[in-house]
Amino acid sequence: MFVGSPQSGSNTTLRMSEREFHREHGRIGTMICPLCRGKAVRHLPLPHTTIWRCRASHCGLEFASPQVSDDELRRIYTATYYPSIDNSRPVKYGATPDSVLRQVLLQLEASLGSLKGLRLLDYGCGRGPLSRIALELGLVPVGMEPDPVARSISKASLGMPVYGSLEELRSQDLLAQFDLVILWNVIEHLRQPWSELQEIRRFLRPGGRLLVSTMNTRCLRARIESQRWESYSNPTHLYYFDSGSLERVLRCGGFHTPQEWKPKIRYPHHGAVRRCLYELSTMFGVSDGLYYLCHLASSTHL
Ligand SMILES: [Zn+2]
Repeated sequence: MFVGSPQSGSNTTLRMSEREFHREHGRIGTMICPLCRGKAVRHLPLPHTTIWRCRASHCGLEFASPQVSDDELRRIYTATYYPSIDNSRPVKYGATPDSVLRQVLLQLEASLGSLKGLRLLDYGCGRGPLSRIALELGLVPVGMEPDPVARSISKASLGMPVYGSLEELRSQDLLAQFDLVILWNVIEHLRQPWSELQEIRRFLRPGGRLLVSTMNTRCLRARIESQRWESYSNPTHLYYFDSGSLERVLRCGGFHTPQEWKPKIRYPHHGAVRRCLYELSTMFGVSDGLYYLCHLASSTHL
């Protein structure tokens, strides 16, 4: 998970002006969409911010404004994701279960062919659960994780390189290129995901793949629970996606042919009825999660 973006340290001034902007425009109930510059309207109030929704029909992005500051984000990540280095304290926002990550990678292998030996960039790797399963399946993972506690845990437990930023990765390996980059429930934490995707794209070899997973604001739980829905109430989330807005962000990040992917996931806590409901909700595009695969064309010049 992320403590801001690689650019976030230099964005203090920008975010201060964003706060002033928010005060000015929040009074009249409109905001400018940070992605398409269209008009956004107040969608949901939260204790720590307001969620706005872009009204442009080709966009529809939902975003938090103002964004939580870097200092506050660090405090929240420590309290809710990484309270202790030895996993001795309870975690509020836990990682995806290993069994789910294993199903995802095995189905990815069934779609794309053997993953053995592929170089994986696990972007926002947290404690490294995805990389651990990737290692089991024969991939060669490298992690990127700005949170120092999470970085220490993933480095120590998996013995793989884990960098604090893409700049650090580049400084250690000038020619670093990956066959596969995965952002597993990470894109919603980024300060400007379209800018970071453009950076990530430079690390993907021609013919390589990007897999992105995130929440789906069209899901039944979001409609029923509204601002109590965990993906809305989590203060480390800065954006909230449906398929349309996620596709637009991916395209703005330089991935021009994003393809929705629907892995058949069996959650360990689902009984037969819930499993059936989950399959139906996936079929009708109202399940909790979105998964997108992007292919970087072999002829692409980086
Ligand atoms: Zn927009």
